[in-house]
Amino acid sequence: MSNDKHSNETILAHGLDHMDDQHLGIIPGIFPSTTYERAADNSYPNGKIYTRDHNPNYEQPEQVLAALEKGEDAMLFSSGMSAAISVVMALKPGDHVVTTQIMYWSLRNWLQNFATDWGIETTFVENGNIDAVKAAVRPGQTKLLWLETPANPTWEMEDIAAWAHIAKDCGARLAVDNTVATPLLCNPLELGADIVMHSATKYLNGHSDVLAGALICKTKDAYWDKIRGIRASGGAVLGPFEAWLLMRGMRTLSLRVKEASSNALACAQQLEKHPNVEAVLYPGLASFKGHELAKRQMSGGFGGMLSVRIKGGAQAAIDVAARLKLIKRATSLGGVESLVEHRASVEGKGTLCPDDLLRLSIGIESVDDLIADFIQALEN
Ligand code: PLP
Repeated sequence: MSNDKHSNETILAHGLDHMDDQHLGIIPGIFPSTTYERAADNSYPNGKIYTRDHNPNYEQPEQVLAALEKGEDAMLFSSGMSAAISVVMALKPGDHVVTTQIMYWSLRNWLQNFATDWGIETTFVENGNIDAVKAAVRPGQTKLLWLETPANPTWEMEDIAAWAHIAKDCGARLAVDNTVATPLLCNPLELGADIVMHSATKYLNGHSDVLAGALICKTKDAYWDKIRGIRASGGAVLGPFEAWLLMRGMRTLSLRVKEASSNALACAQQLEKHPNVEAVLYPGLASFKGHELAKRQMSGGFGGMLSVRIKGGAQAAIDVAARLKLIKRATSLGGVESLVEHRASVEGKGTLCPDDLLRLSIGIESVDDLIADFIQALEN
């Protein structure tokens, strides 16, 4: 099946028509072998040597992700964090990174507390402030610009094309964490980014049962080869069963993203009107600061993530979460079931998250049930 003739929905449902060639099963098998036999002439006839570099179960999800993101190549990792960190590890000591203050907290923490030990300094700029990005770059020294949009957990939007211009001008690469938007709502490579990263643990898998990460590149260049080497030698690879499960989850990605986006928009619109709600943060709301940019940069919806600021502060927010009956109190996002968390408690000391904020990952349940659950928790 060629990628360019089919829509994302078809690419996903068919998984690019990878099959079990031995039995003509329409679903490929799981290949647990860690090693591959050499031929008598000492060659490896299938090009595969050892599973830390190659496994047949990586191929289908990697090709599907490259097709969805319109990139030249993709690589799976053992987690979103290992994928993200590999991009930074491909830099050299002395290199400089620019990113935003509000972003996935664990990566911010790693850049602040671990990357520095390897001689990589990061400047964190105000979200949604492109002048601050321009001011922060150091031509010749800044080698990576990293952004996440919408950004966890307040969903600020970044203008990918504007960041890409700045990256180009200063000779840096732009990497985008596209976990929340998914490849169905936004394609950063088409807006000038060089690398896209996903926590495949979230929407791509969609069932809260696989930890995985992915990178997709616009062009296979020396930097990409270096990242591949970091993955192969460091061993941050996905197991074959997890890669297979991920592909199984991805087959329904388009249905899940559409449903989660429309549910999230309906929840956001309802909750915004409630007297016990201070504010709803969701890129799909006309009242949201980044709404115009979100309309330009995303198509097909605004995703399933929103945050609700509760009147009365931290304890009032924790109490609302405690009263929810249907929506589960747990971290993570992108599963079919809705989750809520008091985000400042998860991020802990040094968090930039307002302490009255509940982060919601909206799933694919009946939207009426979700709204009713949140309203009863606000009012009881
Ligand atoms: N990026 C975003 C936006 C995330 O939400 C997460 C995890 O919550 C990550 C990256 C890290 O991914 P993982 O948990 O798969 O390592």
